[in-house]
Amino acid sequence: MRLLIIGAGFAGMYAALSSARLREIQGVSPDNLEIALIAPKPTLVVRPRLYEPKPETLTAPLLDVLKAIDVDYIQGSAETIDIKAQTVQITTPKGTRKTLSYDRLVVATGSRLFRPNIPGLAEHGFSVDSLDDAIALDKHLHGLADRPAVNGRDTVVVAGGGFTGIEAATELPARLRGIFGKESRTRVIIVERNSAIAPDMGEGPRPLIEDALRKLGVEIRLGAGVASLDKSGVTLSTGEHIETETVVWAAGIRAAPLTAQIPAERDNFGRLLVDRDLRVPGVQGVFATGDAARAACDDEGNYALMSCQHATRMGAFAGNNAAAELLGVPTKPYHQKAYVTCLDLGEAGALFTRGWERKVEMVGDIAKKTKQEINTVWIYPPKAERAAALASADPERVTDL
Ligand SMILES: Cc1cc2nc3c(=O)[nH]c(=O)nc-3n(C[C@H](O)[C@H](O)[C@H](O)COP(=O)(O)OP(=O)(O)OC[C@H]3O[C@@H](n4cnc5c(N)ncnc54)[C@H](O)[C@@H]3O)c2cc1C
Repeated sequence: MRLLIIGAGFAGMYAALSSARLREIQGVSPDNLEIALIAPKPTLVVRPRLYEPKPETLTAPLLDVLKAIDVDYIQGSAETIDIKAQTVQITTPKGTRKTLSYDRLVVATGSRLFRPNIPGLAEHGFSVDSLDDAIALDKHLHGLADRPAVNGRDTVVVAGGGFTGIEAATELPARLRGIFGKESRTRVIIVERNSAIAPDMGEGPRPLIEDALRKLGVEIRLGAGVASLDKSGVTLSTGEHIETETVVWAAGIRAAPLTAQIPAERDNFGRLLVDRDLRVPGVQGVFATGDAARAACDDEGNYALMSCQHATRMGAFAGNNAAAELLGVPTKPYHQKAYVTCLDLGEAGALFTRGWERKVEMVGDIAKKTKQEINTVWIYPPKAERAAALASADPERVTDL
């Protein structure tokens, strides 16, 4: 029997760990239940940190931990899923095509930035969405330091005033000073279509976010969209033109394109609708998880967000359940009651909220300490030590905040 997992993000990593954990608990050998993970690289990209400087350092190796738990790593990109034949066709880095069969498949291909068809965005826009994007932005910013401080060199426009846009923007004043020099007069401007900053964060945290932006000197343009970009800068839907050489697009993500091949219902983000076991209904043997899936978290109408916190736990449930079906043991319905947000606010600290109503629990330095611990410890893969790695993947305990 073979369980295939596509994707080495937070969801894929925990699907591998939890399926291997259940296999071990059931006393089944890797020869009888083969678990394999397909991804272009055997590394976890620590996406939630990609707004930070030195993005090239923000990956963690996975080969040793996969080896320790007897999960095979298959290098490649999944190109086609044949749900009738139960096969996945992959392309290896050398361009070779391979077909792999599965008895159960976990689609954990995550998400990627959605770039709308705005004139100039493809040529002039940057982002902090993928490792390559974040490295390109960092290189660009360092490259600007060799140019004269004119024509908006020291201005960065961040398009999107949601979670990612705020984290990117609040990190930038210090980051730019580090590159252009302490005396530089940098400007960071967030452009947000809605009439309020952080539209999803609600009334409680918003004044604290606004206060942090004020302290950092980050400007805001509300009720304005990006109309076009060119070499001279960005033009907003209000007609305002801002001179800048750097526009960071942070306005929306979609599930990775592979999900479109599965003939099932999807939401507006392209996420596959899944049942409580994270199975794709009507598609034999296929589970979806993390940012690739839309799953109910509880019985109160809350759904998992495209977040690391949800992806990690959903990964653990999906892997466990895919293995459970093959091993003939009961599955465990996914549930995730606790929901917190920890928003980095750069030199203004951070903000920690609990619950779907986002009750503020910590601000400033204390919240910042928590954010640093989340970002440098909690979200990294477990050590490559078999017993500890398997123990870390009990679905009921993963991301139990
Ligand atoms: C700047 C930024 C800040 C963020 N901050 C936070 C935060 O503070 N808190 C939070 O909870 N979340 C945050 N997030 C969101 C979080 O990073 C994602 O929700 C999370 O990464 C989703 O995990 P995932 O495993 O589903 O997908 P991903 O992490 O996207 O991983 C997907 C994996 O699938 C692989 N893959 C994709 N397609 C294929 C294919 N065809 N074949 C093989 N492999 C494939 C990819 O290479 C990758 O390994 C942030 C994201 C960004 C970009």
